[in-house]
Amino acid sequence: MNKLKPKLFRINTGSCNGCDVEFLATALVDKFQFHKLEVEIAEEISQANLLVITGPLTARSEPFLKSYINKLSEPYVVVGIGTCSITSGIFRDSYAINGPTDKVIDVDINISGCPPRPQSIAEGIAKGVAILNQKVQNVNISKQMDTILQGFEAPKSFRGKINLHANLCTACRTCETVCPSGAINITKIGDKYEHKVWHNTCCFCGNCVFFCPTGAIYNTNDFDTAKHQDEKYSDTNISYIKTDNCSSCNKRYKKPTTGLLKKAYINDDINKLNNNLCPECRKKENFTRMYL
Ligand code: SF4
Ligand code: SF4
Ligand code: SF4
Repeated sequence: MNKLKPKLFRINTGSCNGCDVEFLATALVDKFQFHKLEVEIAEEISQANLLVITGPLTARSEPFLKSYINKLSEPYVVVGIGTCSITSGIFRDSYAINGPTDKVIDVDINISGCPPRPQSIAEGIAKGVAILNQKVQNVNISKQMDTILQGFEAPKSFRGKINLHANLCTACRTCETVCPSGAINITKIGDKYEHKVWHNTCCFCGNCVFFCPTGAIYNTNDFDTAKHQDEKYSDTNISYIKTDNCSSCNKRYKKPTTGLLKKAYINDDINKLNNNLCPECRKKENFTRMYL
């Protein structure tokens, strides 16, 4: 049995065009090796078996998307490009949005990013082609995917997946507050704080990195964001932040880092501060030290 020829059709369900431009660059620039996938661009939706979607799903686009799905040639695969398609991204609370896309149709591959890096788009399409072939005759093209990713490295300055130095984090929640995508969640669990970053909705804006007072959160240059739909919610970075007992009132608290103390007590010798006190007890001690 011959391999099925992948025929790609792209639709924009409300994109800012950022993802469309990246997709075009992926398809046209030789170094991204898109040609190795032997994907044909379909002129009509009825010829296509590989649907690529960009943008958040708007209320206006929803009926069009549904009618397009019905016209696809069976079997077919759906690939969502960009955070908007996966979670509705920064547009998620808008009255005009009916997404995310998988609320309305079945999606096979998600490629997060705002927009994703071309290598990630190429990898996501490769995974889509693999699923398509598996649907037809159980052909495994994982070797082809290795070739696509081989030799790619993002520059050091690239803002990729978020990571955390848990020992520097004070669970202050600044990152959670400034994140436009709702990607960060900090929860108190017993004596610890759980700091969770959901990569599939992160738009790599770097806001959390910029505003973090201790330098705990940072961008890696990991651009590998093409994931199967069943990994949509599991692609996370989870860290645990320890708390200590206050030496005065015994309440659990998160010790501030030396860097943070230096920022808060610019005119004081921080070596003289009692770092084993919770904020309330330290406030009392400072008041006594300064005014009594
Ligand atoms: S994910 Fe970002 S670049 Fe892509 S459509 Fe949405 S806002 Fe635009
Ligand atoms: S990562 Fe930085 S901003 Fe976020 S909770 Fe930790 S210390 Fe605060
Ligand atoms: S880079 Fe940070 S602030 Fe920006 S979306 Fe990702 S987690 Fe949120």
